[in-house]
Amino acid sequence: MSVNQSIIFKNVTVAGSGVLGYQIAFQTAFHGFNVIVYDINDEVLEKAKQKFDTLSAAFTTDLKATPEQLADTEKRLHYSSDLADAVKDADLLIEAVPENPAIKNDFYTKLAAVAPEKTIFATNTSTLLPSQFAAVTGRPEKFVALHFANEIWKHNTAEIMRHEGTKQEVFDALIAFAKQIGMVALPLQKEQPGYIVNSLLVPLLSAAMELWAKGVADIETIDKTWKVATGAPVGPFAILDVVGITTAYNINKIAADATQDPIKLQIVEKLKTDYIDKNKLGVATGEGFYKY
Ligand code: NAD
Repeated sequence: MSVNQSIIFKNVTVAGSGVLGYQIAFQTAFHGFNVIVYDINDEVLEKAKQKFDTLSAAFTTDLKATPEQLADTEKRLHYSSDLADAVKDADLLIEAVPENPAIKNDFYTKLAAVAPEKTIFATNTSTLLPSQFAAVTGRPEKFVALHFANEIWKHNTAEIMRHEGTKQEVFDALIAFAKQIGMVALPLQKEQPGYIVNSLLVPLLSAAMELWAKGVADIETIDKTWKVATGAPVGPFAILDVVGITTAYNINKIAADATQDPIKLQIVEKLKTDYIDKNKLGVATGEGFYKY
């Protein structure tokens, strides 16, 4: 298989129309690409279509998008629940199916059987590594990770992470594409679990929760220390409220179960009884560590 020196993308297929997939599709169409949104059936795709208005409102408020731009975005968005049809002209396929290795494996196996040779595959996985799926894609040299953050139009990071077998031209093409769709392109030259953002963020949030669980200082004092000392606009507990207490709980539960570390077990217990059981799940429910 050969890859052109300068790879130009025109047609992009986004697989998975959930939280991130639909945002990626919208963002890509907004920036002038033809987009096909693919999902398992038409019912799910109908639900995705209904998110168009919500995202239009967000783009209007946050980016001052004009009605013309949004009408053009809508025209460029197409939908299909037939995988072969959805990828038949795709220059790039961005995969945002559930974070489950079995589902992703199955998806890439089916995709490999129907995608044209030219199609580059990019995974938006948060916690898995592209090398895990490289073989099953049938085109490891045209496979790369392209990781977005939730609310991609505002938190516009795109971490582009190659695995050992990714071709340089493919890596470069994804960096260029990320910029074309309005993202800050952040290349990772090596595989790194958690990319850059979570490699930095997870230890910070864990350390903050340990200080809290040990009773060293209260939440406000910990956040204030971080803000005043580093100039950061928010502290770790305010970040946790945005991430969501359930996600924090899930991550800590895995670590607590694996290590049986008493502090981690205490963190998990406090998150459950003081927050999750009281529906204080963070910004999403109006209260977490702080009230909104
Ligand atoms: P989600 O559960 O909201 O959406 C997943 C979508 O995939 C659903 O619409 C589902 O119907 C569809 N799907 C299921 N099986 C499929 C298949 N075989 N083929 C095509 N579509 C299929 O999930 P999400 O939060 O959008 O996450 C998707 C990916 O994005 C995950 O890998 C996740 O790690 C990553 N991600 C999520 C976030 C986030 O904040 N939610 C941030 C960055 C990256």
